[in-house]
Amino acid sequence: EAYKEDPPDVEQLGKSTWTFLHSVAATYPESPSPSQQDEMRQFMRIFGKVYPCWFCAEDFQKWSSKNEPKVNTQEEFGRWLCDAHNEVNAKLGKPKFDCNLWKRRWKDGWEEGK
Ligand code: FAD
Repeated sequence: EAYKEDPPDVEQLGKSTWTFLHSVAATYPESPSPSQQDEMRQFMRIFGKVYPCWFCAEDFQKWSSKNEPKVNTQEEFGRWLCDAHNEVNAKLGKPKFDCNLWKRRWKDGWEEGK
């Protein structure tokens, strides 16, 4: 009984997935090697195929085919992901997130000098 939970809906799945993806960006190397860059490009391509909300996946694939993942640095990848997330925010009528703040939200935290 303690573990009787329902399958995630689109919102729950989305929130968990964004947490995961932005955290991946927060730990992506500042100066990734060519093979690390290649792996991240592949990961995002495969992510777009297996994301378990088909209409979400379809729109994400369309957007990322026009906006190829930027994987040259951690900062670049974090911002690319922020743009991808903002694309979905716009579609859902949610406020746009200021991408200058992505690193504070997902890596460094908000405290001064941290
Ligand atoms: P979320 O959008 O899940 O965001 C979580 C937190 O991330 C926010 O509280 C904020 O602190 C931070 N945040 C917000 N915007 C940004 C940003 N741009 N950059 C960095 N951090 C940010 N839902 C649908 O109904 N239809 C869809 O087509 C759809 N497509 C999706 C596609 C993908 C690839 C993913 C991962 C999710 C998709 N979702 C979709 C789910 C949707 O994006 C939300 O996750 C869901 O609606 C829950 O929203 P939320 O308000 O909890 O915040």
